[in-house]
Amino acid sequence: MSGSASPARPALEDRNNKVPIMPKKLIPSVCPYCAVGCGFYLAVEKGRATGVEYMPEHPTGEGSLCPKGNAVLEILNHEERLHYPLRRRGDEWARISWDEALDLVAKGLRKALKAHGGRSLGFLASSRCNNEENYAMQKLARLIGSPNVDNCARLCHSPTVVGLGGSLGTGAMTNNIRDLANATCIFAIGTNLAEAHPVVSRWVQKAKDKGAKIIVADPRITPTSWMSELHLRLKPGSDIELLRGMMKVAVDEGLIDKNFIANRTKGFEELLRSLEGFTVEEASKLTEVPAKDIIKAARIYAKSSSSALLYSMGITQHVCGTDNVRACANLALICGQIGRSGAGIWPMRGQNNVQGTCDVGAIAEFYPGYKRASEPSSLDFFKSAWGASSIPSGPGMTSTEMMDAALDGGISAMYIIGEDPVICDPNTSKTRAALEILDFLVVQDIFLTATAKLADIVLPAAAWAEKDGSYTSMERRVQWVDRAVNPPGEAKEGLWIIREIARRIGIDFNYSSAAEVLQEINRNVPQYKGATRARISKPGGVPWPCPSEDHPGMEILHTERFSTPDGRANIFAVKNVPPAEEPSPEYPILLTTGRIVTHYNGGSMTRRSPSLQELEPELYVEINPEDGKALGIVDGGRILVSSVRGKTVAKAKLTDKVRPGVAFMPFHYQGANLVTSDARDPISKIPEYKMAACKIAPAE
Ligand code: SF4
Repeated sequence: MSGSASPARPALEDRNNKVPIMPKKLIPSVCPYCAVGCGFYLAVEKGRATGVEYMPEHPTGEGSLCPKGNAVLEILNHEERLHYPLRRRGDEWARISWDEALDLVAKGLRKALKAHGGRSLGFLASSRCNNEENYAMQKLARLIGSPNVDNCARLCHSPTVVGLGGSLGTGAMTNNIRDLANATCIFAIGTNLAEAHPVVSRWVQKAKDKGAKIIVADPRITPTSWMSELHLRLKPGSDIELLRGMMKVAVDEGLIDKNFIANRTKGFEELLRSLEGFTVEEASKLTEVPAKDIIKAARIYAKSSSSALLYSMGITQHVCGTDNVRACANLALICGQIGRSGAGIWPMRGQNNVQGTCDVGAIAEFYPGYKRASEPSSLDFFKSAWGASSIPSGPGMTSTEMMDAALDGGISAMYIIGEDPVICDPNTSKTRAALEILDFLVVQDIFLTATAKLADIVLPAAAWAEKDGSYTSMERRVQWVDRAVNPPGEAKEGLWIIREIARRIGIDFNYSSAAEVLQEINRNVPQYKGATRARISKPGGVPWPCPSEDHPGMEILHTERFSTPDGRANIFAVKNVPPAEEPSPEYPILLTTGRIVTHYNGGSMTRRSPSLQELEPELYVEINPEDGKALGIVDGGRILVSSVRGKTVAKAKLTDKVRPGVAFMPFHYQGANLVTSDARDPISKIPEYKMAACKIAPAE
């Protein structure tokens, strides 16, 4: 099967929400859910998307899609899509024209600007949106004078951006996904990839079929742990101790790569000192993993010819999230398991464009291309690039800091695109209170989300297949998606909306197409220099860094030098930090959260998808049968889960998948984050979603 080229693209302002009606076409596209970035073809007939066809030539998915990817049309054609701009009138919504909506948004933002200055404005960009929209969003924020622009990477992988970035110089996946098949050992810690990133598990399985050893470290029994020959069922929150235990074994048994350490790293001596006196028995006691299993895991990982280390939110979503990531990097570095085919670090990112959104600077710490927002040279570069007399230094407030500031009066207006903090942020009651107290809130989305329901103005946006733009997957693969169908009703492309708001505030963006914005990204983001539209339009696009138009893009990073200023990786001597919250007599159960295969993030799309919703229709909590018996809870019964922050009702699932004293709740449902903790890692500012002390009782 081959795809057909889309018709000539009309300019942004000319096409007036219309693409030509044509006979059945197959338009190449990219999955709007997770960051694996699987490709497929959208079948379009008479202007309507009617089917999904597989794309076997895509380098990552090879034609595979998981249940979410297979169900994308249920969202695109959903009856609840927003069709018109809406204005709040008390508890009611009034349909208004685009002119009125855009004027009101500009007025609301200008009012805050005049009363309190640029730093009183908060901007949430969206990892669901394309690079061009996010680039325009962060540029708008900064030209207005606000450094406060952030995205949902804050909630899932900000420790990767700053932690892995600090260790290796680049906070991104070191190898591509298909290279997993070349690993002889795969060590997956804090990632249930078989559910969260199902297409990745195909490559893990390929490695296993060739004889690779699979080790999984996870407190729960999961479909990923079923793939392993060694499951380290550690105590939640003890990841650093497990990794230190493995490093201690590698050091004591002479399994470290001395040449690699000497030639390519710095900081090893300090790490050695930090391990002095530490024993594998102590690691076993702290992690509750048998010492023999820690030793076995260390030997397999260190001795294998090429070991892959995979991690996700089980590592990042802790108050020590950055140090957890650094500890992962330390293990790979001292064993020399990085910078080769099959050997490296694979952070399993979340949303489809979470990598790209950070790359193009829609994040509090960085201007585009990871130029530090605190560096005068970054400001000079973008003042010149954007023709601006002044832009704010950063770092700006992170997404969760903006909520705190709203409550304190430091943020008075917010512009939120494609994010649903009421559902996704921890401690829902606090988030809701913060958004309610704002002087002005505008939300741009494809559905009337829980956050949109709090807005003064709601702007209906085009979904991914209804607009042009590029997306960057977690393996740094930049892929272009052409608009295949028209948005519903009067919904508009995000770039058009941002441009029109900017114009009304007196900022002339003057972009006529997403392709023009990409050209600006090519100029200003060195990693994307050669990722031109023509090159990234082929299935699979081009991986960054792509320093020139004749460069194929780098599939494997750090082969000869790390991307730190001196080319050496940094080893950080990290020690464990206890969780912010431990079980207590009043709240004796440790509640942890995570993903399941059928839903995605806050569920604003998957919970509207009938085929997915049918599989897992409601919030549930996994509880060990021992705890269930002690608490009088029956399988399938209604339960009340409470923490110091709030309470929620769910269905009980009694299962040995969780240890006694630990409960697991998927976070995709309304109510889940009423109980989760908003304690934050001081470095990356990620909330500690994984550790909340709770009590659970039968619901009346
Ligand atoms: Fe989409 Fe991710 Fe599933 Fe691929 S693995 S089909 S990108 S949700």
